[in-house]
Amino acid sequence: MRHLALTLLALSLSVPAAAQTAAARPAASVTTGASAAERRMAEFAAADAAYGEALLERLVNQNSGTLNSAGVRAVGAMMEAEFAALGLTSEWIDGASWGRAGHLIARHRGNGRGQRILMIGHLDTVFEPESPFQRYSRDGNIATGPGVGDDKGGLVVIIGALRAMRHAGTLANADIVIVLTGDEERMGAPVDVARGPLVEAAMWADAALEYENLVRDDGQDYGTIARRSSSNWTITATGNTGHSSAIFTPGMGYGAIYELARILDAFRRELPEANLTYNVALVAGGTPAGLDDSEEHASATGKTNIVPSDAVACNATRAPGCQRCPTYASTSARSRSRAASFPQRPSLASCGSPIASASREKILSLVHAIAIQRPSLVG
Ligand SMILES: [Zn+2]
Repeated sequence: MRHLALTLLALSLSVPAAAQTAAARPAASVTTGASAAERRMAEFAAADAAYGEALLERLVNQNSGTLNSAGVRAVGAMMEAEFAALGLTSEWIDGASWGRAGHLIARHRGNGRGQRILMIGHLDTVFEPESPFQRYSRDGNIATGPGVGDDKGGLVVIIGALRAMRHAGTLANADIVIVLTGDEERMGAPVDVARGPLVEAAMWADAALEYENLVRDDGQDYGTIARRSSSNWTITATGNTGHSSAIFTPGMGYGAIYELARILDAFRRELPEANLTYNVALVAGGTPAGLDDSEEHASATGKTNIVPSDAVACNATRAPGCQRCPTYASTSARSRSRAASFPQRPSLASCGSPIASASREKILSLVHAIAIQRPSLVG
């Protein structure tokens, strides 16, 4: 049954987007050295592209921003119908206890003699209902739309692989669990609850395949065996406030906005290293200034003659992972944390995964060092 995992992977590599035409698909890479069943699967997948594209269009046109719980559930219902048509049983796990829509888990019971396969995808996208980017479109071989690759394209590949397996007669004996999370782009909390079902499925499985975007370079497909972990931070700088005529004096300091700018610029100058990226996505400063609960919107009020008391910035950092991490770690490794008012040492909540914890500690050490270089400026 080792063949099965390889075949599924090959299918996922060869059908990265349903909009791809049969002519453009590198069928030779699937069929070279393949068994008769694998060739039947590859041929079916090539002929089944129109089904996949129609499904992709329906999935993409249903908004499922992570915080749009009704939309995430609607995409889950569409996938449940696909699984039911293939003879799989599905279970919706409500996400109220981690503050998100929930997860869909589908199961196919085989003969219990082969490898147990876990297929991982996600129902949500980063595009909430207020985003202007909502609809599917196609221009030649290029499909465009929210989640068309990440990860609704992946969901279509999962269905395409299962349909091909059924056609070739390889599905009947296969033991498969599919976990489609509803909060991959913005994980709920607590993390051990939010990722509990995925970890449980990973413990059951002998092999896991994750259906995020892959890379094609020069016509060659590349699989991913490890990914950088991702952490989101909020930096909050606070300062003394008063009339602007007193700024730069020992009693007043520089105000919160200069301090935040100093820290962010130090990030830019001092943190760079190979494979480490960190993006400042949102900044606000004033008297007062702050983020709402979603941390996607900021508000600020200020007068030109007032030294600002508050400044906030949202960051996303991606740090190198480790090769030993199981596939599911790429989905479960996201963590959220808040670096509270400097110069207190910021703390990161554990993400429950070993991935890149050393890198995170290094980043935190640097952040802390930057933050306390000039503590007298922080009110
Ligand atoms: Zn994704």
